[in-house]
Amino acid sequence: MAFEPQRRTGGAPPKKRWGRRKICRFCSDKNSVVDYKDIGPLRQFISERGKIVPRRISGSCALHQRQITLAIKRARLMALLPFSTSNTTDQYRSETQRQGMGR
Ligand SMILES: [Zn+2]
Repeated sequence: MAFEPQRRTGGAPPKKRWGRRKICRFCSDKNSVVDYKDIGPLRQFISERGKIVPRRISGSCALHQRQITLAIKRARLMALLPFSTSNTTDQYRSETQRQGMGR
């Protein structure tokens, strides 16, 4: 009797990467509308370097992400938001110098 039972693969339930599904800000709050003139909420969707945060991280839905990117791009053209943070190298340098100096 050399019958070996197959290993069960269903030990622990598979863990999902996103335990909590992030909710789109603009979907949850219906009063807030994506507007390129209102850069307050838009600033939360750009990184420190001025890049648009991807949907995976921001958690906004496809519809609003599209509106957000459009609004950010418009805001950039209106000089409300930066295309990219200027003198990043200088900032980086000064930060590293500060850390290196230890003062
Ligand atoms: Zn949404």
